[in-house]
Amino acid sequence: MTFPEPKSDATVATKPAKWSIDHAAQYYNVTGWGAGFFSINEKGHMVVHPMGPGGPTIDVMDVVEDIQERRLGFPCVVRFQDVLRARVKSINETFGRAIAELGYGGRYYGVFPIKVNQMREVVEEVLDAGAPYHYGLEAGSKGELLIVLAMNTDPEAITVCNGYKDEEFLRLALLGRKLGRKIVVVIEKLSELPHLLRLSDEMQVEPMIGLRVKLTTKGTGKWEGSSGDFAKFGLTVPELIDAVRILKEKGRESCARLLHFHVGSQLTEIRVVKDAVNEGARVYAKLRKMGLPIDYFDMGGGLGVDYVGSHSAGFSSSMNYTLEEYVSDVVYNVQRICKDEEVPEPNIVSESGRAITAHHACVLMNVFGSIEIGSPEEIALASQPRPDEPDVVREMREIVDSLSPRNKAEAYHDAAAKKEEALQMFKLGILGLEERALVETLFWKLCHGLVALNRGKKRLPRDTRDLGDKIADQYMANFSLFQSAPDHWAFDQLFPVVPLHRLGEAPTRDCTIVDITCDSDGKIEQFIEGEGVDETLSLHPLRNGEPYFIGLFMTGAYQDVMGDMHNLFGRVNEVHVFVDDEDPEDFYIEEVIPGDTVKDVLASVQYDTPDLARRVKGALDQRVKEGVLRPKEGVQLQDFYESVMRGYTYLSGL
Ligand SMILES: *Cc1c(COP(=O)(O)O)cnc(C)c1O
Repeated sequence: MTFPEPKSDATVATKPAKWSIDHAAQYYNVTGWGAGFFSINEKGHMVVHPMGPGGPTIDVMDVVEDIQERRLGFPCVVRFQDVLRARVKSINETFGRAIAELGYGGRYYGVFPIKVNQMREVVEEVLDAGAPYHYGLEAGSKGELLIVLAMNTDPEAITVCNGYKDEEFLRLALLGRKLGRKIVVVIEKLSELPHLLRLSDEMQVEPMIGLRVKLTTKGTGKWEGSSGDFAKFGLTVPELIDAVRILKEKGRESCARLLHFHVGSQLTEIRVVKDAVNEGARVYAKLRKMGLPIDYFDMGGGLGVDYVGSHSAGFSSSMNYTLEEYVSDVVYNVQRICKDEEVPEPNIVSESGRAITAHHACVLMNVFGSIEIGSPEEIALASQPRPDEPDVVREMREIVDSLSPRNKAEAYHDAAAKKEEALQMFKLGILGLEERALVETLFWKLCHGLVALNRGKKRLPRDTRDLGDKIADQYMANFSLFQSAPDHWAFDQLFPVVPLHRLGEAPTRDCTIVDITCDSDGKIEQFIEGEGVDETLSLHPLRNGEPYFIGLFMTGAYQDVMGDMHNLFGRVNEVHVFVDDEDPEDFYIEEVIPGDTVKDVLASVQYDTPDLARRVKGALDQRVKEGVLRPKEGVQLQDFYESVMRGYTYLSGL
């Protein structure tokens, strides 16, 4: 009888013979989601090609070392600013090429919606890289408008104002017109229009008006609510007709310059993009024919990002089209409908946020421990029969030893019943704690054996089907999911997780990842595995005294600006990396932005930190007075309390 031993470092040694860096690239699907920006080098380290394939290469472990030398601490957000630039360039040039090839009559004027990532360095980089193309910005609130008014100074680039607007918002936009900027106020609800016209009369400036239409075409997936008749924003078709009437009554048709729609973020299917553009282009053509001189056709955001790298619409974190297809379908269809309707071809505007920023940032973190169900050491110990062991332990051992491919279900049920029996005996006081532990460990041994037998088999006994996920190791990573990847928690959005080193070595542990918040939702249990998705991820066995680093990739869109302070884990340390050909490691860190200190996050929930320190000092002084503490010790403890306050909110090591 052959008993499959539970996977342990010893048995695993047979597997790596076949493992190579290529296997790692395939297993973690780095080529699939990496979009040419990521790969694995011959050392088995993750590397970044910030300018795309063929360009300079940065070893992520060199960045890790640099962060360590600066005593910054993990987790740490790393922004590859050149990746951001490459994305801006790529979307603009792809539109430029399609427009030239099709002989399209308008230009492309993209805008970056800053809600996706309002970090000043991100916005500055996007504007700088986009300057040759007159790339603009989009704002959705007063706060964002204050930013874009100051930042977008190019008189040819446009600024789009979305979102509900009050009088201050409208006045701010008109201030921008006074500065000679192309600021378009998009009317999201009809009542905004008369207010805008009144204020522009009062301020004596000509507004640029955009009209947002609710299309019937719906996005699919997580963000479909942005479109359809009951969407939050935009005008229904009858309201659109009303808007035309209002503009004509006031003799202000000439101010209507832009038609806007947005059917949702992360559009996974190209069909939806085409449907929306077709419907939008018809609306544009009809408005043109009603006498509105609209010359910007703004198709909103929604360009997807293939987080999974499977090139399929089957996952909401993937997509079934490329940037090239997206762009050529848009330009082609707008052109076709304009020809058909005999109206001029408008400038095309898109508001891609996710697709511009997702790739440029990642979160690097250390794994500081693991929770194993039935560790190899415990199992080895429990496997030795003892002369005086109770029957229930011996019987459990016999069940475990009898496991074979033919009796899997039976053995599992017998073992589960035996475990229950042992528990009952324990409750009655007739089984000791150590014996109960032996029974449980033997049960885990059976589970590991079953998982090994099930591996690669299609037909599995029902009860044992997801046993593998249940007994997977939990790797404890130094980060907060709620701060660094809130969309994984909120929408099950997938982010690639990849070890930063040891990729030439076979990853032999099946794992899930847990964060350091006290929330049981703070974990990752959905991973990208090859071109599919799985509940566990294979990672390397942890080695004593050796740090193990993993990266959470593609977090540049939405994540770090939406993260919350669950358990008072605050903003994460951050470094901005630039390519430098002169440097032996091809990069330099231009900027270091320390994350929140404990003091910062305490202040954000209204604690006065000097007051807290005073209270603890009072309590310590009292103990000194009582003679329980030596004065010197009291001072040391007080210093320590205050130094933790000044420190980072995450784990700094033992
Ligand atoms: C959120 C949003 C965007 C950005 O969408 P992405 O999918 O990130 O490109 C663009 N326009 C509007 C109106 C939005 O609400």
